[in-house]
Amino acid sequence: MKFIDLNRQYSVIGSDIERRIKSVLDSKKFIMGEEIAELENKLATFVGRKYAFTCSSGTSALTIPLMTYHLTKKDAIFVPSFTFFASAESINLAGATPVFIDSDNTFNMNPKKLEEAILSTIQKGELVPKGIIAVDIFGLPADYDEIIAIAKKYNLFLIEDAAQSFGAVYNNKRSCSFGDISATSFFPAKPLGCYGDGGAIFTDDDELAKQIVSIRVHGQGADRYDNIQIGINGRMDTIQAAILLAKMEVFERELQTRQVIAKLYSENLKNDFIIPTFLSNKISAWAQFSLLAKNKEQRDQIILGMKEYDIPIMVYYAIPMHLQTAYQYLCYKKGALPVCEDFADRVFSVPMHPYLKRDEIEVICDKLRLFC
Ligand SMILES: *Cc1c(COP(=O)(O)O)cnc(C)c1O
Repeated sequence: MKFIDLNRQYSVIGSDIERRIKSVLDSKKFIMGEEIAELENKLATFVGRKYAFTCSSGTSALTIPLMTYHLTKKDAIFVPSFTFFASAESINLAGATPVFIDSDNTFNMNPKKLEEAILSTIQKGELVPKGIIAVDIFGLPADYDEIIAIAKKYNLFLIEDAAQSFGAVYNNKRSCSFGDISATSFFPAKPLGCYGDGGAIFTDDDELAKQIVSIRVHGQGADRYDNIQIGINGRMDTIQAAILLAKMEVFERELQTRQVIAKLYSENLKNDFIIPTFLSNKISAWAQFSLLAKNKEQRDQIILGMKEYDIPIMVYYAIPMHLQTAYQYLCYKKGALPVCEDFADRVFSVPMHPYLKRDEIEVICDKLRLFC
């Protein structure tokens, strides 16, 4: 069994994908071909933003927007600790300093802890609060009503890291429509994935949009060889855009299937594990279906034991950001962010993709219960 089975999706839409790739091969417009603009229009409409810009990865979709703020080491950017490394790394790439926030029981950033961290940063006076990156972890949107209110109150910019949540919904609005700027990833294993690296940046702000366009291509000005600021090579390949256009045709249907699968898992597992929270104002994109074991021992038995049944189990994330070696320089101690440290010991994710079959889900659940 595969954790994410891209073969099954390919057997459904492979011929469309091949047709789209062939047309890029015929055009030879491998960089900024017409599929890029076609995809950007589709993406902006899908999420309900004025602008969508494709880019080279989810990491560049975070780094480019951060670069528009011209940050320095003194600038504090608040980010959840329980996330993928790129959420925090992009802050350093843009020259600023991350401040890590603990989670609530949905695995997302706890808004109360966010406000506490902002206040204590102001009080310490070493760093100046500048912005917030909220992460929609495992595909579930963060608590934007509360986070947007905090961003306004302290005059901070807000970036939505929607790398895992493309297609999710919060208060009837799509993920990638919250905050000043949103970033998503089309890494192959994400809910909407291409066949390589890719990402997209979303905003409604005309000035930010101009800056993003410039930084995405080496800080270009009116002319390509007129460089008005430091940028990067952050473009998406045309072939990846072509693949995403084919995949968008089935994406809504896939999201609905993910929701059905998540409900099946929940029904089957709710008596034996702590299952993800279902909230009436949020629909997850179910990038992951993540459970909590009783303790680390049970989690580790599950990982080893399920391997025997050829069922892959993954751990996202075993080390929270504030305890990563790369962030030792920030001097966080073990125990500093206890909720996400506890998750790191107990969390595990089961196979999740829209082509999982009902009988496979039942087998996975039956086997999992053997470890209780
Ligand atoms: C995957 C991911 C990223 C980075 O995306 P890439 O396309 O791999 O660069 C950033 N943030 C989160 C939360 C992610 O899961």
